Amino acid sequence: MNLHEYQGRELFARYGLPMLPGQVAGTPEEARDVATSLGGTVVIKAQVQAGGRGKAGGVKLASTPDEAYDKARDILSLTIKGLPVRRVLVAKAADIAREYYCAIVLDREKKAPLVMLSAEGGVDIEEVARVAPEKLIRFHVPLEGLRPYMARNLMRPLFPDFQQASQAADILLKLYRVYTESDCSLAEINPLAVTPEGRVLALDAKVVLDDNADFRHKDWEAWRDPSEETPGARLARAKGLSYVKLDGDIGCIVNGAGLAMATMDLIKHYGGEPANFLDIGGSSNPEKVTAALKIITTDASTSNGGVRAILFNIFGGITRCDDVANGIVASLEASPLTVPLVIRLTGTNEEKARQILKDHGLGATTSMDEAVRMVIEKAQEVTA
Ligand code: GDP
Ligand code: MN
Repeated sequence: MNLHEYQGRELFARYGLPMLPGQVAGTPEEARDVATSLGGTVVIKAQVQAGGRGKAGGVKLASTPDEAYDKARDILSLTIKGLPVRRVLVAKAADIAREYYCAIVLDREKKAPLVMLSAEGGVDIEEVARVAPEKLIRFHVPLEGLRPYMARNLMRPLFPDFQQASQAADILLKLYRVYTESDCSLAEINPLAVTPEGRVLALDAKVVLDDNADFRHKDWEAWRDPSEETPGARLARAKGLSYVKLDGDIGCIVNGAGLAMATMDLIKHYGGEPANFLDIGGSSNPEKVTAALKIITTDASTSNGGVRAILFNIFGGITRCDDVANGIVASLEASPLTVPLVIRLTGTNEEKARQILKDHGLGATTSMDEAVRMVIEKAQEVTA
């Protein structure tokens, strides 16, 4: 789950990261009220999950509450990278002498958190990484964790002033606590700003939480933004199924993540486009099948392209094919499908499954190759 900046700030605040006060606002009136209570110059920032808000006109300074009203109104009418701005953050503006970059991200290849720092923060860090990679300092945190001496050694060369280096090291250690204790896959501050008086402040908060850990963070639920989630994704989360919506037109329901990936690869191989990744898991449960069909069809009806054919690809091991067949039959009886269905199943209780399907006028193949080619053909027929 990606957090909005104002949510990331809430998280940062719990760990004592230094920020200037601010509050989220949904209307220009609210923005004016927040500006009045903060006093002085404020910064108004679009709360959308996209980088480069500054360049897109989504970050503006306002020196009076009335100006805050006007700027908030302008920003609230923007769409940044396809995302409508529904809220703005109104925060006390900082005077900036210098902008740094400071982030901790999960490096999956090295299986370690990676600290990334740069004295060239603020603007596109991707650009810095591309044209001047030597200006991006990279440090893999060892198993023992990030120790204070490591943070100091990292920051000292970046900050000529000793006091500032100490503040920055302290910030990095706190950010590391955010990252580990809150199960982040990314915790980023850009810019990490130095004020003319030498204070080091976090002026932005970008946080990605690892959804696999949501069972131990009950407080995350409040941060979930329903407008950023498809109805199918919501249903999948409620039913505990792994689901990723994609842009293609072939819905896939598969048991096991590996087989699901292989199925998507094969669909692509034969020139089709998968509409989703959906793993109904290893256990046998007809209810999961019903939920899976519902997830795919709900999302299909809400997106414009839609699903043109659905493929079941089941390799029965612990999963029993007859359970899946019963699930399919029950779902179809409850709500008939409007698109063609192709079923491939093989393995445990395959014969029983085939009989159940046959009794209900449905066929099934054992060949994955054949099933994939068939579903692509059916999807194309629907298009034509
Ligand atoms: P992003 O472009 O979406 O990452 O948005 P940021 O929050 O990083 O803001 C973009 C830029 O706006 C920063 O690099 C700063 O230059 C500027 N900015 C953000 N907050 C302040 C502030 O409090 N005071 C001033 N003077 N500039 C700010
Ligand atoms: Mn930023």
